[in-house]
Amino acid sequence: MAKRSDNTGGKDGESQKRRSSFCSFCNRSGEEVGPVVEGPNGVYICSNCVELCHNIIRQEQRRTSQSKPLLGSIPTPRQIKEFLDQYVISQDLAKKVLSVAVHNHYKRLTHGEQSESNDIEIEKSNILLIGPTGCGKTLMARTLARVLSVPFAIGDSTTLTEAGYVGEDVENILLKLLQVADFDLEAAERGIIYIDEIDKIGKTNQNVSITRDVSGEGVQQSLLKMLEGTVANIPPQGGRKHPEQQYIQLDTSQILFICGGSFSGLEEIILKRLGRQRIGFDSEQEQAETPAEHGHNLAQVQPEDLVHFGMIPELVGRLPVTTALEPLDQEAMVRILTEPKSAMVAQYKQLFGMEDTNLEITDDALRAIANKALKRDVGARALRAVFEELMLDLMYELPEHKEEGATYEITGDLVDGESRPNLFAARKDAAKKESA
Ligand code: ADP
Repeated sequence: MAKRSDNTGGKDGESQKRRSSFCSFCNRSGEEVGPVVEGPNGVYICSNCVELCHNIIRQEQRRTSQSKPLLGSIPTPRQIKEFLDQYVISQDLAKKVLSVAVHNHYKRLTHGEQSESNDIEIEKSNILLIGPTGCGKTLMARTLARVLSVPFAIGDSTTLTEAGYVGEDVENILLKLLQVADFDLEAAERGIIYIDEIDKIGKTNQNVSITRDVSGEGVQQSLLKMLEGTVANIPPQGGRKHPEQQYIQLDTSQILFICGGSFSGLEEIILKRLGRQRIGFDSEQEQAETPAEHGHNLAQVQPEDLVHFGMIPELVGRLPVTTALEPLDQEAMVRILTEPKSAMVAQYKQLFGMEDTNLEITDDALRAIANKALKRDVGARALRAVFEELMLDLMYELPEHKEEGATYEITGDLVDGESRPNLFAARKDAAKKESA
């Protein structure tokens, strides 16, 4: 066993001592295993044993954290909404609906975990988000997963095909979730899956590709199974199923599914229904006669409209919480540029700050950027592109041609001007005006 030698040998004595000491854990000498660390009362530990202990502790921590209820405390709907507010601009109603639905979903899960007598079963409420592209559907689902710290995966309906066709199996979405969860099956089974463009698999959809599922109904059926809750066999390597592969079995009954789609044409279906009702009910006349402001009638969507649109009734039935998102207007776009956590404007200001310069963007410029983005008709998705195009030449020049301490200002004129803004044109101060 290692003996504690007297601390009198100075530096050389110290290392001599360490080398000749024995690790108290594996009993091997310092000469054999390299440096050992000395603890009080004559104990020593070598690096191998430190590593081993570290692994044991990590495993233990993982084990105890898994035996705890998976969702310790569930945030209240208000807390969830406040979190969403930090990242998602406007869409107040949708945020509220989602917050309540998600809160209830996880309450239902912990209820099932804790109580033996499940007298009343709360049904799972998968969510359907209807709204134009780029208005925050995916962002909202992604942010939700963050507040709940559960695994989150995104699938796209347009890539899904019926088994046997070229494309992705529905199971691949589940595999994505499992991968995000680091193959922790239990965590994945309580995750959130966002399925984008659910409207694109409507059976009335004119899909001309011969390699794709033409009717879309088969895909809807397999999605339906997943939403209803099934034990899916997932090929761990992804791709098509091969008989020789070992499948992972994942139960989807507790996964929260959020589906999103723009449902173009749905508004006309809603208006038609409202118009028909008007004949019988005078009181609704006023409502139906208000001019159809694009996107705002979606809020009145009923399950029957979705069936009319081409979704199979069973699938509609499995998406009991439906909420419409509003198209974003100029004001919302400006807020998206400036308000969310790590908003684009803040990011660029920081980039300029790193070069010891300042960046200012006038309100006028923000509105001009928003207008440019609106013209592209893809919602807030265009904002980043417009903003980056605008800043490209400035960012290109900045590190080499900056004036330290200078302020560069983006104005509405610069945004709307014929030529792209350059560093010189954006320089804000008297000196620039004099030299101009
Ligand atoms: P979609 O509705 O098509 O799913 P996304 O949520 O993917 O649109 O939005 C695309 C991008 O646009 C997001 O990553 C985000 O940067 C921005 N964005 C869209 N809507 C909002 C919003 N309401 N608030 C803040 N940012 C938004």
